[in-house]
Amino acid sequence: MRVILAQPRGFCAGVVRAIEIVDRALQQHGAPVYVRHEIVHNRHVVDNLRQKGARFVEELDEVPQGAVAIFSAHGVAQTVERDAEARGLDVLDATCPLVTKVHVQGRQYVAAGRTLILIGHAGHPEVEGTIGQIPGKVLLVQSEAEVAKLDLPASTPLAYVTQTTLSVDDTRDIIDALLRRFTDIVGPDTRDICYATQNRQAAVRELSKEVDVLLVVGATNSSNSNRLREIGSESGVASYLVADGSEVKPEWFAGVQTVGITAGASAPEEMVENVIDALRALGPVDVTTMAGREEKVEFKLPSKLMQPLAAREV
Ligand code: SF4
Repeated sequence: MRVILAQPRGFCAGVVRAIEIVDRALQQHGAPVYVRHEIVHNRHVVDNLRQKGARFVEELDEVPQGAVAIFSAHGVAQTVERDAEARGLDVLDATCPLVTKVHVQGRQYVAAGRTLILIGHAGHPEVEGTIGQIPGKVLLVQSEAEVAKLDLPASTPLAYVTQTTLSVDDTRDIIDALLRRFTDIVGPDTRDICYATQNRQAAVRELSKEVDVLLVVGATNSSNSNRLREIGSESGVASYLVADGSEVKPEWFAGVQTVGITAGASAPEEMVENVIDALRALGPVDVTTMAGREEKVEFKLPSKLMQPLAAREV
């Protein structure tokens, strides 16, 4: 079987930064440090950090007063920030800078007198965080059908922002529907929302032209991993989301010559290796990587974590 790996795939700069924040916090403060929500949506990453001494909680009332609390890459509402301050927690914010950029854009649109529409999935932590970062009412829209149901006059001054990890194509369809319905609406260029989402989706679209089966390594609660699987399916390729090699099923590969593998932005490369090993167990495989975009994006760590460890120990 031929295996072609997507390029780029896997960890984005926001995920690398979030994991590094937990690692450095553990080195500087010692265990335990408390992380609100899964730092990124991947069980292997979370288990690994838990073993090192991170404790994952859903709400801040589970964190002892004065302890180190880390906000996940998805961002949090302002009420959570205020709650952390009131409890005297030592906060490290691992919100991805590209998510923060959406918060800032949203606040600017509202300050300019526009009603804000957020394109995203209800219940996703990033969506809850973004809604909670914007003063006033934010209208959540999940589909073109929901655009039709918005109870607003066509001339209402509106603006839209989007969840960072949606399918770029789906988002475009919803934005087009908004632009058709409303006459005074503005928003950012969707290509600027998240380079990693854009690049991984473009790579999978290319890869899908060459393969019989697509495997997406990622978690079921990872928004961007689900979108990658959907793009494979929409391209007419049998596409499966797997957390690791143990979920690979031999019957998917009957008569298959070429398998494509990609990984969501929160899936570690070891899990890609693990999936390749599972394919090797079925027979010989020849692994290559597609020609693709090389990413060099890095995000700065919070200044509190930039101090040399020795200086903090004095
Ligand atoms: S997928 Fe994009 S927005 Fe999400 S953490 Fe990665 S870089 Fe940030």
